Amino acid sequence: MNNHNKIGTEITTMIKSIGIFIINFTWGAIQTVIGLVAFLALIGRPHYWYKGSIVTVKEGSWGGISLGAFIFIDTPIMKDRATDSDFVNHEYGHSLQSSKLGPLYLIIIGIPSLIWAAFFGNWRRAHKKSYYDFYTEQWADELAGVKRNGTVSGL
Ligand SMILES: [Zn+2]
Repeated sequence: MNNHNKIGTEITTMIKSIGIFIINFTWGAIQTVIGLVAFLALIGRPHYWYKGSIVTVKEGSWGGISLGAFIFIDTPIMKDRATDSDFVNHEYGHSLQSSKLGPLYLIIIGIPSLIWAAFFGNWRRAHKKSYYDFYTEQWADELAGVKRNGTVSGL
C-alpha cells in the first residue's frame, strides 16, 4: 500500500471509530450511560481509546464487560497489545452489538450473557461447552473477527 492509500485507510478507520462512538452515545445510550457511571467510578485507572470504544483496566480476576461505548477488562492489556488480544476484541464485539441493537442490547445480549456467565458454569462443564458457544458470545467474536480454535475457558 502506498502512503496516500495508507492515510486514506487511516482516515476511514478514524471516521468509522468516531461514528461507532457517537452511535453508542445516542442509539446505545442506555448501556453507555451505565458504562459512563462505571468509567467515572474508575477514573483513576488506565484508559485508552480502541476503535470507537473506551477501554478501562481494572485488574483482578472478574473477567470483562462491555457497556455501550465503555469496555472494562480485568487484565492489563494496554493499547499497544489490544489489536492482537482476543479478550479486548471480544469485548469490542459487544460494543459493536450495542451500536447495532441500541436500546435492545441489554435485553438481547447484556442480561442473557450475564446469566450465562454467572449460572451456567457447571452446565458448560457437564456438556463440554465453551463459554463462547452461546449466541451472545459467538456473535461478539464474529463481529470483532475473533477466531477461536477448540474450547477456550474463561470469560
Ligand atoms: Zn462476551
